[in-house]
Amino acid sequence: MLAKDIGICLARRDYLETSQIATIFTREHGKIRGIAKGARRAKSKFGGAIELLSLGQLLFSPGRGQGLVTLAEWTAQENYLGLRRDLGQLYRAYYLAELMDLFTEEMDPHEQLHDFFDRALTDLADGRGWAEFLGFQVQLLKQVGLSPELWSCVLCAKESQGRKVVFISFSEGGILCRACAQQTSEKQRISPAGLEIVRKLTTPAPKDQANQPQVQAISDPPQDDPARQAQELLSYWVRAALNREPKTAKLLR
Ligand SMILES: [Zn+2]
Repeated sequence: MLAKDIGICLARRDYLETSQIATIFTREHGKIRGIAKGARRAKSKFGGAIELLSLGQLLFSPGRGQGLVTLAEWTAQENYLGLRRDLGQLYRAYYLAELMDLFTEEMDPHEQLHDFFDRALTDLADGRGWAEFLGFQVQLLKQVGLSPELWSCVLCAKESQGRKVVFISFSEGGILCRACAQQTSEKQRISPAGLEIVRKLTTPAPKDQANQPQVQAISDPPQDDPARQAQELLSYWVRAALNREPKTAKLLR
């Protein structure tokens, strides 16, 4: 029995002479890794090679549980063409794709996450700025259950505001007041302005805004501004959660 779905290609590599192995985040089946036999032949049922960061319809034979599946068909529908015209946006999209791959398990469906990712790529392709890029990372962490506690010290529960918050610790689960930070070895200093942005993105948006995170006044390109500092906070969190740096993180610098 073949399964039909739509999905976004997160990674792919050539396999043998004419085939490909593609990692695709599907809407109903979650992440799959599929072999597309003969996809790189001039005339194939895949209509050409499967491109990184493209959304398509696919048919595949699901195996039992995790592991390589066989792709029977792929029809590209959306290539987020705008990404190919702006290297900065393309690099941000590569980074998000790598995070999607690293933070999800095969055959573990996350429909909402698929849709958030589609929208993030659409926004990046349309040239929109850092609010969407940061907002997607916040959503991803939330969907996989790894959101940091950002409102009060995770150790003493003291509410922290403005300039008083200076540290965050992945091993403790969120922000630390200055006193608790002194007793915690695994921690990172963060900027209050960057924290403020990540807090705004984490707070559920009003219904009429359909989950669209709203952040005002983020300039592009950000240098030493709050958006850059917010990215540093999220990058630290991601690095600590994975226990290593994603390969594409260097593209953001
Ligand atoms: Zn504390």
